[in-house]
Amino acid sequence: MNKNDSQRIAKILEMLGFKKASKENEADLVVVNMCSVRQSAVDRAFSKTQNAKRKTQNHNSKVKIIVTGCILQKDKERFKKFADAVVDVQNIHNLPQILSKLDFKIPQIKIKDYLKIEPKYEISPVAYVPIMTGCNNFCSYCVVPYTRGRERSRDPNEIICEVKKWLDHGAKEIWLLGQNVNSYKFKMQNTKCKISVQNSKLSESTEINFAQLLKMVNNIKRDFWIRFTSSHPKDLTDELIETMAKCEKVTPYINLPVQSGDDEILKKMNRPYTVAHYKKLIKKLRSAFKKYREELESELAISTDIIVGFPGEKRKHFENTKKLVKEIGFFMAYIAQYSPRPQTAAYHLKDDVTWQEKERREKELTKIVRESGLKFNKKFVGKTVLVLVLEKKKGFYFGKTRHYQTVKFRAEKENSIGKFVKVKVKKALDFGLEGKLIK
Ligand code: SAM
Ligand code: SF4
Repeated sequence: MNKNDSQRIAKILEMLGFKKASKENEADLVVVNMCSVRQSAVDRAFSKTQNAKRKTQNHNSKVKIIVTGCILQKDKERFKKFADAVVDVQNIHNLPQILSKLDFKIPQIKIKDYLKIEPKYEISPVAYVPIMTGCNNFCSYCVVPYTRGRERSRDPNEIICEVKKWLDHGAKEIWLLGQNVNSYKFKMQNTKCKISVQNSKLSESTEINFAQLLKMVNNIKRDFWIRFTSSHPKDLTDELIETMAKCEKVTPYINLPVQSGDDEILKKMNRPYTVAHYKKLIKKLRSAFKKYREELESELAISTDIIVGFPGEKRKHFENTKKLVKEIGFFMAYIAQYSPRPQTAAYHLKDDVTWQEKERREKELTKIVRESGLKFNKKFVGKTVLVLVLEKKKGFYFGKTRHYQTVKFRAEKENSIGKFVKVKVKKALDFGLEGKLIK
């Protein structure tokens, strides 16, 4: 999400005549795009801003500093001491007016809304397209509803148009982005409904949901993959599960954040589902992929997000998380140590798990996920997989499979970056695959 916001900021600056400086200390303008999900990220953004300010003072330069992204109210004051402007990311479309006030001589462009900003299109195999912003869920630990505001979905016409432009720029993997993509909802008023869901025209008052949007993107007649993030278990409907499995461009990979494997902790986190419900969803997902996809495609790769050391998380609660992680067999997990965030409901609870214990729990879970990752990857040994090649390092290519595994294989002379190639898998690792290019 942040990377995508940076692309949009870059595009506005380019429209205003700015060019990327080759070194930070040669820039007239520094934009710090920050994230407040964890305190460590805020601290990094703060030292970056402070350093930029120090450089301007030392060199007596006129450089201006703008801080944007997800910013908590209390941090705004702190950042204002070092920045010339602090702007919420959902107001970044006002950048031209803000820069004028900072004495930049720029053309006056009016951009209506955050969701209307076009990205800076670049030749890239992977592209990120926001479909919604904000969040209504108020998980008790999370800043997003406070920093990004309530959910707003983007017009599907604009989404399809942006996807097509990325495909024209060589993109082969399209990520549909949002804090909670599966709560996507857009009411088509009397808009020019240029698109269709599986060839049937939409009526003027249709409300498009995420499953329908997926079908629309899937209907684009080009060779590419569809991925999305993040999805919330509460919005994973049967319609969406079936659509995912039936849309052939949607890759057999899903990130479904569970956050904890204990019902008591889930309740305290304000996650409105139980472990039993989560397990039922995984079962439905797996059987839909078994039903509609063949061979390797029927093997769904599932990753998750987990927070360890949430207030009041005792050993017994954590053991339940370990149990769930073993049972599901996630092939990957984003494990975070709980970080108390101001403004959130959990901030008022005692952060009573020591950092050493959080560290220990993170390591224990990582070990389990590595084992299940390896088990999952072993199913691919001897098989031929399609790989989107992303980079070349020290004589090897690295790319991603449709299941989102990283694959390493020896580079040939011809440049394969940005292309789909076939690779025969020779070895499974806990964090990826190794193989040989098939001519
Ligand atoms: N919307 C997604 C969902 O429903 O889970 C997640 C988006 S959130 C910005 C990304 C991840 O950051 C979360 O899944 C969570 O694991 C982590 N996270 C959010 N707040 C956190 C906190 N206070 N401490 C540690 N990790 C946190
Ligand atoms: Fe944060 Fe995701 Fe919960 Fe929204 S659904 S509050 S983004 S963790």
